[in-house]
Amino acid sequence: MKYDYLVVGAGLFGATFAYQANKLGKKVLVIDRRLHIAGNVYTEKIEEINVHKYGAHIFHTNNKIVWNFLQKFATFNQFINSPIANYKGEIYSLPFNMYTFNKMWGVITPKQAKEKIEEQKCKARVNDPKNLEEQAISLVGVDIYEKLIKGYTEKQWGRKCKDLPAFIIKRLPVRFTFDNNYFNATYQGIPIGGYTKMVENMLSGIEVRLGTDYLQIKEEYNNCANKIIYTGSIDEYFDYSLGHLQYRSVRFEDEVLDMPNFQGNAAVNYTDRETPWTRIIEHKWFEFGKNEYGNDIDKTVISREYSSEWKPGHEPYYPVNDEANNKLYENYKKLAARESNVIFGGRLGEYKYYDMDAVIYSALRLCESELTN
Ligand code: UDP
Repeated sequence: MKYDYLVVGAGLFGATFAYQANKLGKKVLVIDRRLHIAGNVYTEKIEEINVHKYGAHIFHTNNKIVWNFLQKFATFNQFINSPIANYKGEIYSLPFNMYTFNKMWGVITPKQAKEKIEEQKCKARVNDPKNLEEQAISLVGVDIYEKLIKGYTEKQWGRKCKDLPAFIIKRLPVRFTFDNNYFNATYQGIPIGGYTKMVENMLSGIEVRLGTDYLQIKEEYNNCANKIIYTGSIDEYFDYSLGHLQYRSVRFEDEVLDMPNFQGNAAVNYTDRETPWTRIIEHKWFEFGKNEYGNDIDKTVISREYSSEWKPGHEPYYPVNDEANNKLYENYKKLAARESNVIFGGRLGEYKYYDMDAVIYSALRLCESELTN
């Protein structure tokens, strides 16, 4: 065998594993079917702006191990995610906090905001929330649900809020303070110079082959390594033999505009049902004033984000972790357990709505069990 490990996928999971294995003297080959590294965190420079080509990625974590690990590969700027919501021209602060409550109801104090939510929750008779709609109303009341959650969520997931699991909305903090920082995270920022550079640093000194589709030439590649770390979709690995797992896909329309400032913020969510896109990202504000580019670029790059159901040939983004899909995944997992020299990892390999830090942590834990024996 030429390699100890064949890593399929040059995203965060694959790059983390490859780095650790290489450091311990293992021979590693990384392959990716795309023509670039970095998976969905890939950034590309357009007009001197690092454009997040597969959607906005804002690194945030409370995990010191993950944060310290990444410091080897990047310096992070001090970007704080404070998206705003545009509901039919009305602008609201996110995540839901005292600024949002004040704009929605004119309330001034946390006590007044809590009373308003409680009043709406009682009227809607939600006691034991069983789905996203009930969970949302119980957290923030009917008005915020109707204006800031319902339309956005139904566009993003292509499903009624009543048919979605409650946990999705629990990702969003609700605060009774004046605080627009979206994430409750100790560490937060964007790698200066872009994510691609960061992943490039992780893969430095490691053999990488791009435009190489493992599933097309499995036999050839299986014989070159003792073990395979597979980070692609688990159902695709098994040729969908048990059926398709569902994913949401996202399509981006990038546009270079001849103006210095389009929307004054990195992310604006369009929370009504009628606007076809879910959000517009203006990439330069991820770097605003925080790096070598400063704020004097007279052009700007924006991306409109459209959500759709995944179909073969599209990129899978979000696993739809409802009951039926999770059950199907468990059956794929049983098949995966029989592949003695293949380890499935990452968002697609484990069919999990992972944040970046969780993906890296999961890879680091695998390294501990796999590489230190
Ligand atoms: N969400 C919402 N309105 C918003 C932003 C988010 O209702 O303006 C809900 C929506 O259901 C979404 C979930 O919160 O799926 C999680 O949002 P997040 O921004 O974490 O999603 P991601 O950035 O991972 O796409």
